[in-house]
Amino acid sequence: MTILLTGAAGFVGSHVVDRLLAEGHRVIGVDNLSTGNLDNLRHLYRHPRFEFIEHDVCEPLMLKRSLDWVMHFASPASPPKYLERPVETMLVNSRGTYQLLELAKGRGAAFFLASTSEVYGDPLEHPQREAYWGNVNPIGPRAVYDESKRFAESLVMAYHRALGMPVRIIRIFNTYGPRMDLYDGRVVTNFIRQALTGKPLTIYGNGNQTRSLQYVDDLVEGIVRYLGVDHSGPINLGNPEEFSVLAIAEQVKLATGTAAEICFCPLPENDPLRRKPDISLAQQLLGWRPQVTFDTGLGLTVEQARLRLASLDERLRA
Ligand code: NAD
Ligand code: UDP
Repeated sequence: MTILLTGAAGFVGSHVVDRLLAEGHRVIGVDNLSTGNLDNLRHLYRHPRFEFIEHDVCEPLMLKRSLDWVMHFASPASPPKYLERPVETMLVNSRGTYQLLELAKGRGAAFFLASTSEVYGDPLEHPQREAYWGNVNPIGPRAVYDESKRFAESLVMAYHRALGMPVRIIRIFNTYGPRMDLYDGRVVTNFIRQALTGKPLTIYGNGNQTRSLQYVDDLVEGIVRYLGVDHSGPINLGNPEEFSVLAIAEQVKLATGTAAEICFCPLPENDPLRRKPDISLAQQLLGWRPQVTFDTGLGLTVEQARLRLASLDERLRA
């Protein structure tokens, strides 16, 4: 198949590109490099079935090629990054999604949207099922991400209902792994970077808030399975193992062997208290469940982070 994937230079997108190429597909990666990095695609420069287009997906993409899928992964995903880019974030998920749906319509392609567990906001239902409508503050700072992803989901379903376009929506829960930007401000990257550079691990609030952390290979497996299953609504993809932020800090300390301390900082506004996916639907429809434990995934992530920090260090010294 020929697949156009936006956000290809980002953390998740680049892993999906690798897997699609390994499955024999032709991939056109699109990215404006706002939060992504071409280093994530460097190994593909001469790949015969990969092509990269630098482009802001909020603008129309003139492409004459026939496409089987348009997969929309472009959007800042880390809270500090989307809070720094509030309008861009709202636009890539609204105008960007519209432009890409129009492209899919014109090319007769199916559409795949990377949505997020953030559509559940600060959930009043736990764990979160796809049928839960969420608890989002529409004018809070995080709304630029949450509400625009909710709009994107609505728009995708509108194209499906009005035009019969085949669509897929995944709600991704916190995902980590190699290639994450170590300076993106997310919990796993902050703790790993702090631990490896001997700085205190910054816990926001008291650290009792929870997250469920999924290793990126598990997510990619779920995505590929969903491409082959005829279902149009959203499916949660996440690891139901739930950890407090304090426990994540302890695990990172163990995995890195750091003597760094833990310090406590103010909790950001509207920071969700609990998050954990109900993955019954993914189990039933995709026969999928995560395979990688936090212990194993963290070890692999720390290993790559050490290499990245060392090479950054070398570049700074040079
Ligand atoms: P990322 O920031 O690493 O990747 C996003 C990519 O999109 C970047 O390469 C960026 O340059 C690109 N991009 C942003 N705006 C663009 C625009 N207007 N035009 C073209 N490219 C643009 O983030 P990620 O963690 O890889 O997230 C990828 C997708 O998965 C996002 O849609 C995000 O909402 C979703 N998601 C991720 C997580 C997670 O834990 N990583 C959780 C939930 C949802
Ligand atoms: N967090 C933290 N210290 C950090 C970064 C994040 O305690 O250095 C907390 C954050 O307040 C949130 C959780 O860790 O409760 C997950 O944050 P992240 O930004 O990774 O993703 P979110 O799930 O909030 O989108």
